Amino acid sequence: MRTRLLFFLLFCSLFSSSSSAAKTLFVNIGTGGITGVYYPTGGAITKILNQSQGDFQIKAIVEPTCGAVFNINAILGGHLLFGLAQSDRQYQAVHGEADWAEKGPQNNLRSVFSLYPEIVTLIAATDSGIRTVADLRGKKVNIGDVGSGYRQNALDALASAGLDPQKDLTIFGYRAAQANVMLQDGQIDAFFYTVGHPNSASNDATSGSKKVRFVAIPTTDIFFADKPYYQKAMIPVGFYPAAANTEDVESFGVKAGLVTTAKASEEIVYTVTKEIFENFEDFKLRHPAYCNLSKKEMIKGIFPPLHPGALKYYREVGLLPNN
Ligand code: GLU
Repeated sequence: MRTRLLFFLLFCSLFSSSSSAAKTLFVNIGTGGITGVYYPTGGAITKILNQSQGDFQIKAIVEPTCGAVFNINAILGGHLLFGLAQSDRQYQAVHGEADWAEKGPQNNLRSVFSLYPEIVTLIAATDSGIRTVADLRGKKVNIGDVGSGYRQNALDALASAGLDPQKDLTIFGYRAAQANVMLQDGQIDAFFYTVGHPNSASNDATSGSKKVRFVAIPTTDIFFADKPYYQKAMIPVGFYPAAANTEDVESFGVKAGLVTTAKASEEIVYTVTKEIFENFEDFKLRHPAYCNLSKKEMIKGIFPPLHPGALKYYREVGLLPNN
């Protein structure tokens, strides 16, 4: 995959500096596993970009990846031009926290826009007896692989219940697509996933022969005190009629967003931003997770500085002031 990514990036820089009339812009977008919402979101963005009738011919491709941490690092390393990432991970990257504590602040990360809410989702087999986060003690729990955004959310949820992931339970680092199969097979008791709803991982996990439930992750003000990127959120269980729950489930969440690097050309980021915003109604219809999206909200909940190409578009259409 790396060779293909480098190939595309090379072409991005070649074409973005050319001044010919009918320019082709090559764009690649890092997403997540195919059972999440990042992957279809990358698909929705590329479909709109590829049908663009503007000054440029855009050739966009979607890369399935392990998620937010991988995407941020691949963008900063020059292997991806754009990527989807959780707002908490964006914050941590620019502040040099969590996965970036050793490397320090990642000053080249740039925002393009934010998207839909992602909710920290804990799904457990009903026969495991897990009804609270504290019940995970002694259980087998998938917290996600190291490239995922949600692994840290799982660790924060465990810490909030006073659980030590190394001592109090057995943790696994599989991808979400594997975790829902493992839950149905009885190889694990529960798994975490931070994701938009509805998503096919939750759908697959809840519609198998083994009965499963969404488990609440209640939080206090203390939990949020040093984590400005988290908000309270409710899992809309109505999307999953086969789950054991009958009412929406309390948890916490973040926002998904599109990010890039300061090294991306203004022209490319401006064009990508403009195409999505000018085809907003078409974009919104492409996934039920976007049902509450509004253009104004898409420039909120952003932690890295806006890329100048995105800023140029927001100022041009009056979404942001001109100063
Ligand atoms: N938020 C997840 C992560 O960054 C990905 C969710 C998705 O693929 O929709 O790991």
